Amino acid sequence: MANDIDAYWEYHKIVGDEVGDTLLTPQQFEEYKKKVVPERMKNRLYVSWRVEGGIDCELVGPESMCHCQHRYRQHHTDNPQRNTKCKNCRCKKYEFVPRMGSQPARCKCKHYSTDHDLKKECNKCTCTSMRITLSCPCGSPAYLHYTCLETKEERLAAGKPVGQDVPYAAMGGLTGFSSLAPGYMRFDPSGARGDSVDLQPDTVARSSHQRY
Ligand SMILES: [Zn+2]
Ligand SMILES: [Zn+2]
Ligand SMILES: [Zn+2]
Ligand SMILES: [Zn+2]
Ligand SMILES: [Zn+2]
Repeated sequence: MANDIDAYWEYHKIVGDEVGDTLLTPQQFEEYKKKVVPERMKNRLYVSWRVEGGIDCELVGPESMCHCQHRYRQHHTDNPQRNTKCKNCRCKKYEFVPRMGSQPARCKCKHYSTDHDLKKECNKCTCTSMRITLSCPCGSPAYLHYTCLETKEERLAAGKPVGQDVPYAAMGGLTGFSSLAPGYMRFDPSGARGDSVDLQPDTVARSSHQRY
């Protein structure tokens, strides 16, 4: 029984939202793993939200919400061209937007980030450029942050953790259990406090679905 659940869970982490609701046959799944997974491991994009030159304040994982209100895993994530357009709407690239606990954050116009369309225009007033004034624990206001996509080589060159190569879809910036902590208290080199803590792929993927 436990094995069945593990297998089901493993399947969904690997296939992700890629093929809709139809389950692949065991044979198709084997082929998928042979074809897609090696490419994915080679081309993974590490996604973080930060101020230019600063720490990774947030590491984006499969469940992290985009401004378009779809999750990272609902965007194209398997490609070396850094094209992260949404599979479910007209959003052209994944963009992390911070929240206030369970509420969306507010723009300078006082309306929620979610009241703003894909062009960042407010549906409730004349505001035409969303600006979230919420202050990040790193000390900078949210609007100075941007969503950054890096290749493995770029991460390594910057001395940031890349974790183990994992077969799972849409892992974004998650490289270990510590990735779930906000940047200002994270202990790996992408955070403010130092040492590398890299865990096994299994732990990485399990931790990823506790997020948001
Ligand atoms: Zn989006
Ligand atoms: Zn979308
Ligand atoms: Zn407004
Ligand atoms: Zn606004
Ligand atoms: Zn920050």
